[in-house]
Amino acid sequence: MNLPAPEELRRRAEEALIRCGADIGAPSGALVARSPITGTDLRTVVTSSADDVDAAISAAHEAFLTWRSVPAPQRGAVVRRLGQLLTEHERDLAELVTLEAGKIPSEARGEVQEMIDICEFAVGLSRQLYGRTMASERPGHRLMETWHPLGVVGVISAFNFPVAVWSWNTAIALVCGDTVVWKPSEKTPLTAIACDALLAQAAHDVGAPTGLHALVQGSVDVGEQLVDDARVALVSATGSVRMGRAVGPRVAARFGKSLLELGGNNGAVVAPSADLDLAVRGIVFSAAGTAGQRCTSLRRLIVHSSIADELLNRISAAYRTLTVGNPFDDGVLVGPLVDSQAFDAMQTALDKARADGGTVICGGERRGTDNPAYYVSPALVRMPAQTSVVREETFAPILYALTYDTFDQAIAMHNEVPQGLSSSIFTTDQREAERFLAADGSDCGIANVNIGTSGAEIGGAFGGEKDTGGGRESGSDAWKAYMRRATNTVNYSDQLPLAQGVEFT
Ligand code: NAD
Repeated sequence: MNLPAPEELRRRAEEALIRCGADIGAPSGALVARSPITGTDLRTVVTSSADDVDAAISAAHEAFLTWRSVPAPQRGAVVRRLGQLLTEHERDLAELVTLEAGKIPSEARGEVQEMIDICEFAVGLSRQLYGRTMASERPGHRLMETWHPLGVVGVISAFNFPVAVWSWNTAIALVCGDTVVWKPSEKTPLTAIACDALLAQAAHDVGAPTGLHALVQGSVDVGEQLVDDARVALVSATGSVRMGRAVGPRVAARFGKSLLELGGNNGAVVAPSADLDLAVRGIVFSAAGTAGQRCTSLRRLIVHSSIADELLNRISAAYRTLTVGNPFDDGVLVGPLVDSQAFDAMQTALDKARADGGTVICGGERRGTDNPAYYVSPALVRMPAQTSVVREETFAPILYALTYDTFDQAIAMHNEVPQGLSSSIFTTDQREAERFLAADGSDCGIANVNIGTSGAEIGGAFGGEKDTGGGRESGSDAWKAYMRRATNTVNYSDQLPLAQGVEFT
């Protein structure tokens, strides 16, 4: 496989960081930023010590005490400016996303576009943090709710959306009057440095107070410090179910709030009436795009037995045309896996699937083994049943195909996994489509009709049920997780009637 020289990638990373205004100096520190494109180092970064993390939380808490009283529309100014800077530096940030996460440039730019979109959304939201007024049962009383800033938000993010998830949290948190301490994935420290620099520039340009945002770098121990610190009012953590199982109970033990965005095991039902041209395109993008490394990647295909052979033939034909390789090369649609562990996990899953009676229709093999990068052909595997390996999330491009005969069976199979993030149905039968979206249909936080499971827009609330953690981020009313609600009763009469007609004289 023809891969770029590691020095070229290092140069590109350094130049993009500088263009984003990052004060990088000479590489130093123990945290190694790698590029999955070549499997080689990009540069080293300083890991935050326990004292650094403590100081970051203290500064963010101090800044919060001022920021919470700045009127929300004024708070929106810093996010508006951030959106402008992200627009100016869209290519620089996308370049870093490709370098560190291995995404093809159009997907990397799409991720940055999500950041710009959420900034626009948050600026509008800064004038719409509405509370309700309710009818009081008492004469001369007003009953209402107000939404107040919450405090410091600790953002812990995953490698596969190294910048968008931060922006979903940070843009909303800032207009809500919160301050942010961010621990990015230890696999993507450079994109984080660029984002932090752009936000610092935005805050400076609009004269916002200092300390609204702090970046802490490192791995699990740094995240744990955010999780355990009582000054962090909300821990918004995105990553694996394993991480959520560790984080959720620890935050709950101190009665902190958590917002968990965890792994998915997303399924698509393909009904006999489906438009197969459209379905094949939606399935291939969802399953093979981003090399299967999206939380919303399609992992399970539940297809009616009458069309299974035709559909699987068409998907495998499409898979064989996918160009796998250096994401910077024109025409490449599938970049690398993030590292060797991801490759090993994929091979282990394929072995288990074969042992369970599955047949690998195509893909699964490593491409270009003469380098320390891990490129694979997306795999399509026909399974006789939904065995334990199918019920797990393997963060790699494996699409398991299962067949069904009745629609009830399809829904039951679809919901019979621990995770509940994204789902879709391909059908032209309105009854099936509506049933899939109904209370006894898909049990996921995202349920789509005639599009794939991945590629959500920022306008909707994003997140999932069951082992996916139950959190919601991004659009709709997800902002409420970043604020605290107060219910207020105001008596403007000269009487003191008690609620529920209670007499106390
Ligand atoms: P990961 O769980 O290994 O790490 C995610 C982050 O959590 C990292 O920053 C890591 O350092 C931190 N972390 C891990 N254990 C921790 C602990 N005990 N305490 C505090 N912090 C801890 O995940 P990953 O490999 O980076 O990302 C892939 C996973 O993330 C997949 O499961 C994917 O589905 C999921 N994901 C979910 C969403 C979503 O919105 N639901 C979005 C992106 C990724």
